[in-house]
Amino acid sequence: MKKYWPPVAMLVIFEIVAVTLWLTKDNMFYLFNFSYIGLSISFGVFLFIRKYKHARRIVQLLVGLYMLIYMGLICNENMQIEGFWYYLFTGVFEAATIHYAVAKIFGPLLFGRGWCGYACWTAMVLDFLPYKVPGNPRKKIGWIRYITFATSLIFVAALFLAKVGNIERIMFWAFIVGNVIYYAVGIILAYVFKDNRAFCKYICPITVFLKPMSYFSLLRIKCDKDKCVSCGKCKKVCPMNVEVTDNSRKRLNGTECILCMECVRNCPKDAL
Ligand code: SF4
Ligand code: SF4
Ligand code: SF4
Repeated sequence: MKKYWPPVAMLVIFEIVAVTLWLTKDNMFYLFNFSYIGLSISFGVFLFIRKYKHARRIVQLLVGLYMLIYMGLICNENMQIEGFWYYLFTGVFEAATIHYAVAKIFGPLLFGRGWCGYACWTAMVLDFLPYKVPGNPRKKIGWIRYITFATSLIFVAALFLAKVGNIERIMFWAFIVGNVIYYAVGIILAYVFKDNRAFCKYICPITVFLKPMSYFSLLRIKCDKDKCVSCGKCKKVCPMNVEVTDNSRKRLNGTECILCMECVRNCPKDAL
């Protein structure tokens, strides 16, 4: 039974966040929201322990569809980066600001880029494409992410500076249009670079938060050098080109790890 402690611990952590936010913000929604996400992730970890091949994809669909359809389209919450700037400028600690604080800014100190592997609704679609393992070497164009990051910030700041009315409605449409653009660019890049995660590697503005924070992540894949036979299988199956056998925090592409566990599943010596 000991092996089932991780999903239980995960559920407890999410329940603590759910109850704390419910009581401090006096809003039942947080209880429902974080309980649902916690249950989905715990279920995925449980399936992973049971060695179910599609465990990660199930969590991705459970959380990603919930965020995209329920939160975005039904509740009209822009949970993309523009929504984060919007709430930040209005000084409200709600919806997107809480989401960013938990999943993308402070959470990565604990669970790295787990968001990218298990919850992101953009990657949820991109991971269906055929290039699960990159077909080409990595390009040195990651600087594009800073342009998309600055563009999103300037776009929302300009709305506030120009005192545009009904920004909330604009945010809803920005969510729809932004997602359509992300999916289109993500799919095109995946085919051009033969890499499902090309969008994550070069374009996604959220990585400007995720990468530095996940550098310090408590949860990370480590290699047991005594067991490793340097077969290189782990690096071959890694969608993010991480030098996973190097245990230092400075390992090549270390802040790109999305904790997908492909390396762990494929290591013939259980060294990871
Ligand atoms: S890098 Fe961006 S698009 Fe890719 S999974 Fe992470 S948040 Fe989603
Ligand atoms: S797959 Fe396992 S044994 Fe092979 S190089 Fe990676 S960690 Fe070492
Ligand atoms: S294969 Fe391993 S190193 Fe690569 S992203 Fe997945 S968990 Fe991280």
